[in-house]
Amino acid sequence: MTGNRIYNFNAGPASLPLGVLAQIQNSFLNFNDSGMSITEVSHRSKWFEEVLNDAIARTKRLLNLDDSYHVLFLQGGASLQFAMVPMNLLPDDREADYVNTGTWATKAIKEAQLLGKKVNVAASSEDRNFAYIPKNIAFNPKAAYVHITSNNTIKGTQWASFPDTNGVPIVADMSSDIMSRPIDVKKFGLIYAGAQKNIGPAGVCMVIIRDDLLKLTPKNIPTMLKYTIHAEGNSMYNTPPCFGIYTIQLVMKWLEESVGGLANMEKINQKKGKILYDFMDKSGFYKPTADADSRSLMNVTFRLPTEELEKEFIKQATANDFGGLKGHRSVGGCRASIYNATNVEAVSALVDFMRIFQQKNG
Ligand SMILES: *Cc1c(COP(=O)(O)O)cnc(C)c1O
Repeated sequence: MTGNRIYNFNAGPASLPLGVLAQIQNSFLNFNDSGMSITEVSHRSKWFEEVLNDAIARTKRLLNLDDSYHVLFLQGGASLQFAMVPMNLLPDDREADYVNTGTWATKAIKEAQLLGKKVNVAASSEDRNFAYIPKNIAFNPKAAYVHITSNNTIKGTQWASFPDTNGVPIVADMSSDIMSRPIDVKKFGLIYAGAQKNIGPAGVCMVIIRDDLLKLTPKNIPTMLKYTIHAEGNSMYNTPPCFGIYTIQLVMKWLEESVGGLANMEKINQKKGKILYDFMDKSGFYKPTADADSRSLMNVTFRLPTEELEKEFIKQATANDFGGLKGHRSVGGCRASIYNATNVEAVSALVDFMRIFQQKNG
């Protein structure tokens, strides 16, 4: 811990690397000798254009994206992507496959249906309260795309590997695990991620889209909702979320230069997950809610023997400077979100606290 900062296990908005926050603070009043804050310069200025283009270049390097992929920074959160994806990519005479793995996937399905689109739920884990990622799914080879949620922030599950879809492009909501591990990007036609979980502040959504999918945008949808417009304008069709993009640039720089890339980030995330899950599995007191092969390395959801103990646990955790451990209001229980910026030390400190709590209350 530094100064009066707590151990932050918030689900989103969530922790950011301390060095990134410090750099924002240091340059906040006078960005790059402009005599202005980054929140005061024109988005058409050289100062901001450099930030934008560096954020894109670093994103492409980190994810190994070739020139057929475009990196966009949009507003409206991941929730607007639930609608933009089918609006742009799903013609009325075609179908899309969706895998329902929880709250956010359910919302994505609902938005596509609201638009009158043909949605096929190819698999669902609703039968067991979304505690697992479905396996051996039979995808429709004629589907326009397969929509998945790579990490289920609320239910605490994560795709350990991505399915084979016979060449049908995967569209992935990666809001809560983007940049947490390397991915085989060729499988993906579109990736979207609200920044506030793993890569930045609220107010900006990263969208990565491949050329061939850009060709599908129909003429008769609102301009602001067309991927083509944002790709042609390099995310500057209108004023972009400048401060969010700046923070993302610094987080990408941290990932490249301090962490050393996504393979290293993945190792660190695996280590953190192992510390927490191994401890809970042996405790006989804390019970992870997800099946072992579907556990998320980003959002660790768990229960205690009783709801009273959970209440007490969260109360005492808060008093001891462990924040954000309450489960999502829709599911209850506890959740430790251990995104990229939450380090091994924070996870070890949490386990120490959990051990003492168990000794006193178990
Ligand atoms: C938080 C979250 C969303 C919603 O993001 P907003 O930016 O608030 O719209 C969607 N999908 C997943 C997986 C999330 O974790």
